[in-house]
Amino acid sequence: MTTRSTINTNHYIGRFAPSPTGELHMGSLVAAVGSYLRAKNHQGQWLVRMEDLDPLREVKGAADSILRTLEAHGLHWDGEVVYQSQRESLYTHALQQLKNAGQVYVCTCTRKALMRSAKRGHYGIIYPATCRKAQHSFELPKAIRVRTDIHNETICFHDAYKGKQCQNLEKELGDFIIKRSDGYFAYQLAVVVDDEDQGITEVVRGEDLLDNTARQIYLQKLLGFKQPDYCHLPMVNNEQGQKLSKQTHAPALSNSQASANIIQALRFLGVYNQPIEEVAVENEAPEKILQWAVENNRL
Ligand code: GLU
Ligand code: ZN
Repeated sequence: MTTRSTINTNHYIGRFAPSPTGELHMGSLVAAVGSYLRAKNHQGQWLVRMEDLDPLREVKGAADSILRTLEAHGLHWDGEVVYQSQRESLYTHALQQLKNAGQVYVCTCTRKALMRSAKRGHYGIIYPATCRKAQHSFELPKAIRVRTDIHNETICFHDAYKGKQCQNLEKELGDFIIKRSDGYFAYQLAVVVDDEDQGITEVVRGEDLLDNTARQIYLQKLLGFKQPDYCHLPMVNNEQGQKLSKQTHAPALSNSQASANIIQALRFLGVYNQPIEEVAVENEAPEKILQWAVENNRL
């Protein structure tokens, strides 16, 4: 479990980290292609990690179907696919480290109570640190929050696409959940542990996750992890201007249209900007189109 999927840690290592909550759609394909191109532009590795931490949101068969869709689209990953559901011991270890340092605590507040009383900020409610000093027992089946007053400074980072980003967690979000009351580890903790364990040097993903990044950098600091670079790609919208997602019923990609889908994703990323006639690759296998994109463009 602790074996790293990496050989040379100075090397670029990127990843695509889908959640198996449904089939891949054009929005997720853009993230996959974007992260793939960045990795290949840097002669790096491109890993796939299945973020199947939450069985309640998982759709049966989706993980396999996502992998088949990636393959059909010429997106072949390096190494073995990592499944978050098999990595609980790593997350438990990180949580223990934070516990030992007194940086986390149990929160017994209900969502309802918080909705009623807590102030609202730009990112939803700002947790008012109600339970920070309460010393509730870790035996309770309750959420665990990390204190945001340990490094109480504004976190800034440079995003390759979005430029300089800053967030003050203590003021704008408050102590945030790293283990949920239903016993599952929260995305924020798992992603940070996995990116470190897999030696990820740059995180390329959709812009919808941009405002999660400061929380992740914060956890990296507390855990003494390396901070990867970040690149948040623009979101694909449907005709109604809504972001493509399962919630907005984005259609699943058809594997028989793989080359056309790849071209569409490349166009969206601004990579495929020459007229099709000139490049004449639309009838090629998706692998060929991707190779053309890697050789002729930098994302
Ligand atoms: N699993 C997350 C998602 O599908 C992506 C996580 C990440 O790239 O950090 O939205
Ligand atoms: Zn609380």
